[in-house]
Amino acid sequence: MERRDFSAQFGARSHPLVLAVLVCAAYYAAAVVGLALRFPPATTSVLWPPNALLTAMLLFTPTRRWWLVLLAALPAHLVLELRNWSTVVVAGLFATNCSEALVAAGGVRLLSREPFRLGTVRQMAIFIGVAALFAPLVSSFPDAAIVSSFHGERYWDVWNRRVVSNVLSELAVVPTVAGAVSVAAGSLSRWRGRRWMEASVLFAGLVATALLVSRQPAFMPGNPRWPLVVFLPILLWAALRFGPEGVALSLLATAVLTLGAATHGVGPFTEQSADEGVLALQIFLIVVAISLMSASALDNERRRAERALSERLQFEEVLSRMSAAFVGLPCDEMPRAFAFWLERLAGFFGWRDVRLALYDESQQVALAHWSTFHADPHTRLSLRTEFPWAVERVKTEGAIALHVSEDMPAGAEQDREALARHGLASAVFVPLKSGGHMGGLIVIMTPTRRTEWAEPLLGKLRIAADVLANALARMRAEAALRESRDELSHLTRVSAMGELAASLAHELNQPLTGILSNAQAARHILDANERRRRVDLQEIVRDIVEDAKRARDVVGRMRDLLRKGATERAPVDLNELVTVVAKIVTSDSLIRQVSLELDLSPHAPRVEGDRVQLQQVVLNLTLNALEAASISDHHPRTVLVKTEANDRYPIHLFVRDTGPGLIAGSEQQVFEPFYTTKKSGMGMGLAIARSIVEAHGGSIWAATGRDRGAEFHLTLPAIDRTVTQPWTS
Ligand code: ADP
Repeated sequence: MERRDFSAQFGARSHPLVLAVLVCAAYYAAAVVGLALRFPPATTSVLWPPNALLTAMLLFTPTRRWWLVLLAALPAHLVLELRNWSTVVVAGLFATNCSEALVAAGGVRLLSREPFRLGTVRQMAIFIGVAALFAPLVSSFPDAAIVSSFHGERYWDVWNRRVVSNVLSELAVVPTVAGAVSVAAGSLSRWRGRRWMEASVLFAGLVATALLVSRQPAFMPGNPRWPLVVFLPILLWAALRFGPEGVALSLLATAVLTLGAATHGVGPFTEQSADEGVLALQIFLIVVAISLMSASALDNERRRAERALSERLQFEEVLSRMSAAFVGLPCDEMPRAFAFWLERLAGFFGWRDVRLALYDESQQVALAHWSTFHADPHTRLSLRTEFPWAVERVKTEGAIALHVSEDMPAGAEQDREALARHGLASAVFVPLKSGGHMGGLIVIMTPTRRTEWAEPLLGKLRIAADVLANALARMRAEAALRESRDELSHLTRVSAMGELAASLAHELNQPLTGILSNAQAARHILDANERRRRVDLQEIVRDIVEDAKRARDVVGRMRDLLRKGATERAPVDLNELVTVVAKIVTSDSLIRQVSLELDLSPHAPRVEGDRVQLQQVVLNLTLNALEAASISDHHPRTVLVKTEANDRYPIHLFVRDTGPGLIAGSEQQVFEPFYTTKKSGMGMGLAIARSIVEAHGGSIWAATGRDRGAEFHLTLPAIDRTVTQPWTS
């Protein structure tokens, strides 16, 4: 991303003077190399890099500055060429050189419509077709005309020589400059030690081969001798490991070394006429360059496709883990799981300086958030009021990005102010939609400017949002379900209280009668003997206080049981809970003439849960048992409530009665909602008991008692169990 921006702006960002000096110096150096590679008396060089250099410079400079590039090359051209040729020839040749660069760069720009790169087969084909072949071909007609008319050389000889040398130069120089630009953009900083070592060995191999070919041409026996093939492995290596830019640089080095040797009468071409030998060498290099660069572009494209595929697979893996993590996750653990997965997503995309927040439908307070920077923890975005435009737009657009520095669309002024107020440079809004309904939003905020908030990233975010949206929808549905279950559970408690009303009256009667008779006695004492008054009154008042406390406790326990509210989890001592239930049903057992026995193990560990709900379960089992025992003729009528801890069940409670027992085969059925055998029964008590026990991670079952009656068993997980974090999967 960075690199592409830099390449596109290379000639746009630098100061005009710097650009001019750079072009002039590079043109001069390239022309010196070109002039050195000539066979006098021929005017045309065997390798002429300046035109290709101009092409490259134009490709990396915006068109509005092209005039500057061409003008900057002129002084270098004049200084070098005026020494050898007349002004007319020099001016004419400069014009044809410029025309080649203009046709090459203009053609490539026109056809590829994107910053110049050689990464894909299409871009490579455009470069080879337009810049490397077509431009040298057409610009050589006027060039050859000038040279042949002023120097008397044969037109087609000049044309041939110029086409070949310029094709080779374009092929070798333009990708080399592209490589240099990418180096300037920092691509080398990604190279590690091994890569540097490999590049050095490659270069050393190239120089050694060039020396071997030029100094020991006869080392290759047979006829025809073709020692150039020894370059092939090295060029192939460059192509596969260093891309088209690597091929071009190696070719440039090969061309300069071998052509330099050939023009100075050294090398394998001494057997043929020098002219013919050089042409053979040029053609060899051109053919090799075109084949290897195309192969390298193809390889690049394949690698990129592979990388994209592997990235996609990795993303899909994250997605599938994420969706698996939410399956069956209790809804009160979801907010933590959301925060965990927001962090995983940020890690997957490699984001720094971001804050991710997941809002539910209310869009007021984030349900979960995660941040890499120190955001003010008190900063809360109220989406609906602060980002009204974005919240509305996101419903129809899928995902949108807002940048504080860009022109905001009309209507988004408030959103922009909010961004600035929170010190944010940009924010991305992704809707959490499930079943066509927007149930929430993910907001990604960053205080630093980001350019990559675009497709395909937004697309990926949308997919991730779908998974989170489903989890959010399930969480909401479960919360609603829990609410209605709580409601129902409250109702059954109220109905149980109806049943207990008689026992309540009975239980309150005692302390109230005590209070009354004590108060009457006090009045008598006050009327009678002065001396006894003080001592007796103290006793009476103490009794009144005790009775009043008992009455208050009775009322308190009933109120506790009737309390309506959200589930609260806290450590619960089951023995204590059974004792409270026993107190509540004391009068009931007296009225029904059933004795209630408790057998509480001192080793039973505590459970984590909602005290009132668990109390409701035990109360329900005990009331059912008392009722069953009371209608049986069997004597003695007893109900036993026992707690114990054993290896199999860390916490085990059971209620056994001496009643008629369950109807045969109804052990499962009794837990079904609305199953009842009683005239005025609701059939909801055991159904609710089961759902409460299961929500606590325990289980409940019914059995027929050992000799008679029914048994209800209940196990719960102990509090000190190892807690796992299922959402991390
Ligand atoms: P309800 O008490 O309103 O009928 P429950 O869900 O508490 O609702 O009980 C469902 C049914 O299970 C009862 O109607 C009864 O048939 C059976 N049952 C529950 N407890 C006992 C018990 N201790 N002995 C025999 N049957 C029982």
